[in-house]
Amino acid sequence: MPPAHPFDDDKLREECGVFGVVGVTDAANFVALGLHALQHRGQEAGGIVTYDAEHGFNSARRFGYVRDNFTSSSVMDTLPGALGIGHVRYSTAGSKGPTQIRDVQPFFGEFSMGGAAIAHNGNITNAEALRRELIERGSIFQSSSDSECIIHLMARSLQRNIPERMEDALRRVEGAFSVVAMTRTKLIGVRDPMGVRPLVLGQLGDGWVLSSETCALDIIGAEFLREIAPGEMVVITAEKGVESLFPFRPQPSKFCVFEHVYFSRPDSILGGRSVYETRENIGRELAKEAPVEADLVCPVPDSGTPAAIGYSLESGIPYAMGIIRNQYMGRTFIEPTEQIRNMGVRLKLNVNRALIRGKRVILVDDSVVRGTTSRKIKEMILDAGAKEVHFRIASPPTAWPCFYGVDTPQREKLLAATMSEDEMREHLAVDSLKFISLEGLYRAVGEAQGRDAKCPQYCDACFSGEYPVAPSDQIHKGFQLKTAAE
Ligand code: SF4
Repeated sequence: MPPAHPFDDDKLREECGVFGVVGVTDAANFVALGLHALQHRGQEAGGIVTYDAEHGFNSARRFGYVRDNFTSSSVMDTLPGALGIGHVRYSTAGSKGPTQIRDVQPFFGEFSMGGAAIAHNGNITNAEALRRELIERGSIFQSSSDSECIIHLMARSLQRNIPERMEDALRRVEGAFSVVAMTRTKLIGVRDPMGVRPLVLGQLGDGWVLSSETCALDIIGAEFLREIAPGEMVVITAEKGVESLFPFRPQPSKFCVFEHVYFSRPDSILGGRSVYETRENIGRELAKEAPVEADLVCPVPDSGTPAAIGYSLESGIPYAMGIIRNQYMGRTFIEPTEQIRNMGVRLKLNVNRALIRGKRVILVDDSVVRGTTSRKIKEMILDAGAKEVHFRIASPPTAWPCFYGVDTPQREKLLAATMSEDEMREHLAVDSLKFISLEGLYRAVGEAQGRDAKCPQYCDACFSGEYPVAPSDQIHKGFQLKTAAE
């Protein structure tokens, strides 16, 4: 499979979205709609599993967008039942190779007490060690996915029911997991003890819904009830409703702060706050921290938009759509030729020349990863006749890779890992470049006291290098943690 973003490999990518529903007629239709709303969390492939008494477990896994695969009756008619879960995936191309259909979730296991399917968002940081151990003891893996370890650990557990086997399995797992699972009668949701990745609970008539984000509740008309708490397991049946358990040792919460900056959809609610408002706050903080005289504030579409609006509101500098996104780019060029590839970002973004000519422009983007796209955008803006270009970035410098379920380049490929802010400004050849500070970001997400240096309230490892859980597989392979001198 080609990468889902052939012209844009300069962003961090959330790797998965999960969704599940119980107690509704034709669960698969709701799951497909939910996954469609979560498509931004993974565009490479998707899968749905349902259960009905007549056929047992039913499964369909496909490459590509949900809308292209889970709308036709030839697929949806094979997924009957009132209970279903689903998963959308973005492959970690480069690190583990391209997606194979065997890597597409949900995964399924048949146990002595019945079958179970699981869909996992996050990344297991000791997966390679677990896989080695499980293979030595006779497990036969079907995929290259870290998530499959959970199924094999459940198979080895001596507990008598599936939720207890899942607890057993997840106690062995390190890292980040938001899991949506199902048995013949139960929908199960679990969040790791630090709550790194999101998971929310909703209600739809007499039925119940679990989703990575609230935007997927909205699309099916479900009511948002609450977030699944860090370390919580919910076991839901159509008859008895929601049973809440806390099977893991409590740990300080470490929700991914980058969900606020970029990954989650702006119309979702995170931690009781609108993602859109948080991003606008980030723009306001950025304007306070890094003011500059200019004529226009322009977002790098689409993810820079709320922060650019915030910057404009705070600074009083007019907001303008100086760059227009071609909405229909997507996967149109499934296998781009070299010539088309060289056109790069121009295929996706175009400068609004009439607006830009002769102006001092502030460009607001959510992040700088490799810096390749930022350079090209700057060139386009200057070609259009801008007098000055000032970059303002709505996250601190991304200097460390993420090991908790986000596809990140190796550390040496991250611009901020090898250059100071001044060097980056020179490299990008812009008039000024400023990132929001980590303290400013914490203020923007509602931490009035700022960042607690001893025990930060969020995971911010890709900015700070302070990993809340040591990435043991990576350390085993030679990854160097931050030293006292850094
Ligand atoms: S390292 Fe960054 S992207 Fe990964 S979970 Fe932590 S804050 Fe989120």
